[in-house]
Amino acid sequence: MIERIVIVGAGQAAAQAVDVLRRRRFEGSIALVGDEPFLPYQRPPLSKKYFSGTLARDRLPIRHQSFYDEHRVDVRLGRRAVSIDRAARQVALDDGVALPYDALILATGSTPRRLQGPGTTLQGLHYLRTIEDTDRLREAARPGARAVVVGGGYIGLEVAATCRELGVEVTVLEMADRVMNRVVCETVSRYYEAEHRRHGVELVLGARMEAFVGDAAGRVAAVRCADGREYRADFAVIGIGVLAQDALARAAGLHCDNGIAVDEHCRTSDPAIWAIGDCTSHPSLRYGYRVRLESVDNAFEQAGTAALDILGTPVPHDKVPWFWSDQYHHKLLIVGLSQGHDEVVLRGDPATHGFSCAYLRDGELIAIDTVNSAKDQMAARKLVAARVRPDRARLADPAVPLKECVPA
Ligand code: FAD
Ligand code: NAP
Repeated sequence: MIERIVIVGAGQAAAQAVDVLRRRRFEGSIALVGDEPFLPYQRPPLSKKYFSGTLARDRLPIRHQSFYDEHRVDVRLGRRAVSIDRAARQVALDDGVALPYDALILATGSTPRRLQGPGTTLQGLHYLRTIEDTDRLREAARPGARAVVVGGGYIGLEVAATCRELGVEVTVLEMADRVMNRVVCETVSRYYEAEHRRHGVELVLGARMEAFVGDAAGRVAAVRCADGREYRADFAVIGIGVLAQDALARAAGLHCDNGIAVDEHCRTSDPAIWAIGDCTSHPSLRYGYRVRLESVDNAFEQAGTAALDILGTPVPHDKVPWFWSDQYHHKLLIVGLSQGHDEVVLRGDPATHGFSCAYLRDGELIAIDTVNSAKDQMAARKLVAARVRPDRARLADPAVPLKECVPA
């Protein structure tokens, strides 16, 4: 009988787990432990509207304190879980408290991958994960300041776009030969590359960063690449990916494999422990390989999956994943995972600023990227979920609605 649930990590996934547990009438105790001083909040605005100052801090929490009070959640903020005693079923916190559990949910998220090497201890280097990181970054991002952004992934490009809105001069250094190269095809990469350049970003591809160069006061003054070129910087932002926060799980002997390894019910290798969100890797039933997904959607879906399993009503996690990114006024929506595709079909003309790229594997639609294309967005999720085999000629014709591209 499960009467006491402890959730470690108070982020996107944890907030949703609480919500589902109480909506499904779990009447026992719930303790929520988070090492940040804030209630669970949305991170996406940290590189976008909260950074630009157009979204206030009080709009960030996913739920306000009244929600946790009404739902009888013992919220412990600013507290870190330091170890798990699996035999005694207790979690030890950094203030010496031990919380007993019948079910433990690990929702510890991920942490920015750090650069090592010359100059990485200089002042003026920023990573972006928390509210406090964005507050520090906003201080630095004054009009006319010069920023060097290392990494042309989601964080790097969103930060670059917001910096331009704030009047900051920006150079982006990306190691690969195109931006967002792991998640989108070349057409989408080139579109975003051109848009950043049009907005005044200096974008350097194939850039191998070698060192941060400091001034006499120990602040970053430039970033040097392996080809000897230096880019002036008043501050630098590093967005080179994240690592799963699985140290607590590993120390407790849970099986980890690119994050805490869970099954399609978010069960770990211990039957009393579940794990959800960025900190996990799970088998994708749809795609047939293990994935570690870092997205709001995945945190939300896995939270529901774990909660239902804990309550004895398991439903395997098998939704089509989706991701979005807002840069300038452009909306990119990625539905599904495109890895392993053998064909990309372009719908529309990037020059019109509204187009999609459909990814096929052996004729089956496995993913779609849509750029400013609301109509395709609506159909994309249904079609990828239904594993359709679209007619290629109709798919390539943007005049044919996406949902009508499937032979009857
Ligand atoms: P988190 O939200 O990171 O929460 C984990 C929490 O656990 C953290 O507060 C952490 O400090 C805490 N914790 C860790 N270890 C312990 C411990 N031992 N004890 C106590 N607490 C602990 N995704 C999208 O889908 N779309 C976007 O546009 C998007 N934009 C983003 C922009 C930024 C700047 C960032 C940083 C992320 C963005 N993401 C976006 C990713 C998305 O925010 C994450 O995938 C999501 O927050 C994952 O939720 P989570 O609950 O797994 O982890
Ligand atoms: P990311 O999307 O994985 O991008 C990191 C980029 O940096 C990659 O293009 C990577 O290239 C490049 N890179 C790696 N090492 C480098 C180096 N030494 N020099 C230059 N470039 C380097 O990760 P991120 O942008 O840091 O984002 C971090 C997390 O926030 C992720 O979980 C992400 O999903 C989340 N996030 C999501 C959104 C969104 O969904 N809209 C927005 C912001 C943040 P390679 O691919 O070749 O390694």
